[in-house]
Amino acid sequence: MRKKIVAGNWKMNLDYTQAKNLLQDLIQNKDKFNADAEIVICPSAPYLGVFAELVAAHDWIKLGSQNAYFIDSGAFTGEISPVQLKSLNIKYCLVGHSERRDNFNEDYNLLAKKVKALINHDITPIFCCGEQLQVRSSNVYREFVMKQLEDSLFSLPAPDVAKCVIAYEPIWAIGTGQTASSEQAQEIHGLIRARLEANFGEKIANSVPILYGGSCKPDNAKELFSQKDIDGGLIGGASLVGADFCDISNSF
Ligand code: PEP
Repeated sequence: MRKKIVAGNWKMNLDYTQAKNLLQDLIQNKDKFNADAEIVICPSAPYLGVFAELVAAHDWIKLGSQNAYFIDSGAFTGEISPVQLKSLNIKYCLVGHSERRDNFNEDYNLLAKKVKALINHDITPIFCCGEQLQVRSSNVYREFVMKQLEDSLFSLPAPDVAKCVIAYEPIWAIGTGQTASSEQAQEIHGLIRARLEANFGEKIANSVPILYGGSCKPDNAKELFSQKDIDGGLIGGASLVGADFCDISNSF
């Protein structure tokens, strides 16, 4: 059975006190979260060290980084190394989020290197893909998303792909309140699963979790998560409200 995952992407939000309060609120409400789902939070990088200590005794919450570079150490001012993440017991890392592709010009080649480096250090990449509104409107969105995957992820050997999580995040739905319908999301999730099977076989296709992201909230999560190829969510805005994030975890 595939892992169910609810991952919160806090982006560049919350000052330190606010972030720590939110984490403590989640920890205190452990019993309300879905025990069958992997709960991941991706806070801002400066908080990871303290957060790693705070969750050390609460291993039902996994920590994720929002970013990592592909080199272990050296003269790369401002970057975060997978070795550093590993030393804090960080389990997941976002790769290829549209905000990083767009604002920081992260291209397919860099993303492939990041995925590989993370896997080499036993950190699970959550590889994000998704199309802009104009691509959706021009009806080539299926090919567009498949190419994002082919270029950066599917060039890796099968055992590496088997260690990844994929997040389909249509850019027109991120932070806009305009969620993809469950049919729209399932269509792409189904295509991704089929492409995984064609390239890497049934076993890998049936084991890689594929998350949906884009204005996923407590009132639409159930419908989305009921789709056969949707294994959970990458949650932005709603993950900043503890009760909403918790409700989403119970939407399977
Ligand atoms: C995201 O940024 O990954 C995201 C899904 O954001 P939101 O839930 O706010 O649309």
